[in-house]
Amino acid sequence: MAEHYKPVKYKAWEMSLEERFQEVYPPLSERDATVEANRCLFCYDAPCMDACPTHIDIPTFIKKIATGNVKGSARTILESNLLGATCARVCPVQELCEGACVLEHDHKPIAIGRLQRYATDYAIEKNIKFFEKGKPNGKKVAIVGAGPAGLSCAGELAKLGFDVTIYERQKLAGGLDTYGIVVFREPIEVSLREVKMIEELGVTVKTGITVGRDVPFEDLIEKNDAVFVAIGLGDVPNMEIPGENLPGVHDGLEFIAETKTQPLNTIKFGKRVAIIGAGNTAIDAATIARRLGAERVNMIYRRSEAEMTAYHFEYEFALGEGVSFMFLTQPIEVVGNGRVEGLKCIRMDLGAPDQSGRRAPVPVANSEFIVECDMVIKAIGQKKHTDVMQKLATFGVQETKGYIAVDTTTNRTANPKIFAGGDCVRSIGEASTVMAVQDGKIAARAIHEQLVGKGELAASIS
Ligand SMILES: Cc1cc2nc3c(=O)[nH]c(=O)nc-3n(C[C@H](O)[C@H](O)[C@H](O)COP(=O)(O)OP(=O)(O)OC[C@H]3O[C@@H](n4cnc5c(N)ncnc54)[C@H](O)[C@@H]3O)c2cc1C
Ligand code: SF4
Repeated sequence: MAEHYKPVKYKAWEMSLEERFQEVYPPLSERDATVEANRCLFCYDAPCMDACPTHIDIPTFIKKIATGNVKGSARTILESNLLGATCARVCPVQELCEGACVLEHDHKPIAIGRLQRYATDYAIEKNIKFFEKGKPNGKKVAIVGAGPAGLSCAGELAKLGFDVTIYERQKLAGGLDTYGIVVFREPIEVSLREVKMIEELGVTVKTGITVGRDVPFEDLIEKNDAVFVAIGLGDVPNMEIPGENLPGVHDGLEFIAETKTQPLNTIKFGKRVAIIGAGNTAIDAATIARRLGAERVNMIYRRSEAEMTAYHFEYEFALGEGVSFMFLTQPIEVVGNGRVEGLKCIRMDLGAPDQSGRRAPVPVANSEFIVECDMVIKAIGQKKHTDVMQKLATFGVQETKGYIAVDTTTNRTANPKIFAGGDCVRSIGEASTVMAVQDGKIAARAIHEQLVGKGELAASIS
């Protein structure tokens, strides 16, 4: 693993609770940033730019750091990605920009994410405002959901002169950047600062409003020139096993959200924690439990290591945190007298491939056993918003496997007034913050072209 991926060494016995929840990757100093920037070959036709879903002009922003123009560097980043400070922290860079770096072959790609963070943090610290609200064009857009897709679309539209209102059901805007990304990767303040930047562009953000319940979709569609739906995905689904309502069984997303919004010393955790699932939510919940002080954390997954959906670097990170993995293990019952005392599991074997193309897990007869634990965290993915899908269907919006169907070149749905993006349209492949940001940009450009016409302004959104 390249040197700059190495996190701060975690020594629980030497660190206070607060220290354990500081950002794992320290910021680059001015000297380190300059040295790292000067390693860049500034490739013509740079492969890293193609690999970045938001097509940030990476060689240019790095060159500006190398020449001491950090403010200019931040502008270059934010011109392509208004949520550049979040993406700098959460992007799976090994799979994206850094994975494409020509120096990757020497096992030391340029630390693009950390340089991006260096520049965007500089702009945040100095409170630099790069963009203004555009000259009003008389068009109104409603956005449902204030996650990265919604915020990105709102910001780009505001720059183009649209009157934009975002409706968000949570108390705070920011979506999973605010409530879901583990605090030692992205502190909540970074996400909220980005929300403020979008508001400073003239976007109205109405929180605590669930569209479809507090405000009907009909109203938004009638009273606006376009609607962008960016509702992400829903809660963690039930496991449908006996005992799952026992005290001590927790929802993985709620557990993570608590660590972002509550004082750390008030968060309840078990001594022996069983996490069900092996995706990003599961890994995050597991590492949080360890850092809170859980003595033993077992991740339980019914398939094998090869089928895990979590990124490999996250898996390595969890191993480094002392998390144990039980593969080919299926929970069948939460056991306990009045509260969780254990998780009954059965061993699995891999059979023939299923619909997903992966080999299907098959129970091994008479192989049940109990994993002793006093806390169970379910982290087996997220539900789809079926209620919203049903409402949108009445306006002609179509679906693919429970996700909103869009033309991916415009993010327009089958109803020309309704656009959608982010996790709620991602029926195949990985979902990530930076992809949601790009979805918002694509929709903003298409909305501008549809309502105002093609022009230089919309063309500036790549
Ligand atoms: C635990 C976890 C960790 C992750 N870690 C990473 C990571 O490290 N790196 C990475 O790139 N990606 C990560 N992801 C994925 C990433 O967070 C998502 O892909 C991204 O947030 C999607 O953005 P979005 O705007 O589509 O949805 P969201 O961020 O989910 O935002 C949707 C918003 O819509 C709101 N909403 C929903 N319904 C309504 C309604 N009816 N009315 C009003 N508002 C509504 C929600 O409250 C929410 O605020 C992670 C995901 C999870 C769950
Ligand atoms: S937004 Fe993400 S993928 Fe794009 S350059 Fe920045 S860190 Fe890399």
